[in-house]
Amino acid sequence: MQMKRMDRSILILLALMAMLVVAISGCTPVVQNTDLPPDNTDEVPEPVTEPDPYLVLVNADNPLSEDLVPNLKTIQGNFKLEEQAADAYLAMKAAAKEDGITLLVISAHRPYATQERLYKNQVQKLINKGRSEADAAVEAAAIVARPGTSEHNTGLAADIVTPSYQNLDPGFAKTDAGKWLAANAHNYGFVLRYPKDKQDITGIIFEPWHFRYVGVEHAARMYEEDLCLEEYLAKK
Ligand SMILES: [Zn+2]
Repeated sequence: MQMKRMDRSILILLALMAMLVVAISGCTPVVQNTDLPPDNTDEVPEPVTEPDPYLVLVNADNPLSEDLVPNLKTIQGNFKLEEQAADAYLAMKAAAKEDGITLLVISAHRPYATQERLYKNQVQKLINKGRSEADAAVEAAAIVARPGTSEHNTGLAADIVTPSYQNLDPGFAKTDAGKWLAANAHNYGFVLRYPKDKQDITGIIFEPWHFRYVGVEHAARMYEEDLCLEEYLAKK
């Protein structure tokens, strides 16, 4: 009987110790699990969709970041375009040649730093003429695009003419090269960026020589639906 009572006491003691261990170990997982991600079931992260770099909108209101430096590839002499745009241009040039059209690039990628230097020089010139700094900044922008606000800074735009007509004026649209580009550029991923009837949307005069690479899929849709980039992006 005596032994039995002692056994019971030991059993009770053991049970108490076991409860204590459970109580202690019940606390420890909080410490052990700090490496696990917090249980934020309320905050479901938004799926991250990277914007298509070939649809970048660059204009006076949407300047390009200074940090964005494209991987460039030479397309003609010292003229370079972003690699994918460059390959597309070379394919387009070869196709034009098969149709008896010679394409000639007279402007392509312009580095941000070049644009900045040109703009700053223009501002300084006007300040030297007696303008205030604020007036000079506004007046200069009408003559030289502010750094980052020219599509040429992206490496996705080129001014394309033909050896027999190198003027940057609306007359280029009437040349065989101008007609060929207007009708075929979209097959190579390029769009006529500043169409005649979209000046109020683009804010830029008709430029039948300025072509912008957006990729074949987007270019085809913009061509078929007669949308400039601003309209296309608003619709997407
Ligand atoms: Zn241009």
